[in-house]
Amino acid sequence: MTLSCERCKDEVFKYLSCDYCSRKICNNCIKSSARASKISRLVICKDCWGDLKKRERYKNKLTLPLKKAVATANR
Ligand SMILES: [Zn+2]
Ligand SMILES: [Zn+2]
Repeated sequence: MTLSCERCKDEVFKYLSCDYCSRKICNNCIKSSARASKISRLVICKDCWGDLKKRERYKNKLTLPLKKAVATANR
């Protein structure tokens, strides 16, 4: 059974889902992905990256856990 990317319709064996539009997308459609914490991963597709509001949310989410990590490291 093959899966297809919900954005470019390419066949994929493994997909990630965008955290902002919930579509299952392939590597090519991911604009950026990052580890937000040990358990969660943030993925944003190229379409959502073009949306300034979503891009802002992505960046805000990314920097928040980082600040927390720094705060605990300094204790
Ligand atoms: Zn794709
Ligand atoms: Zn998206």
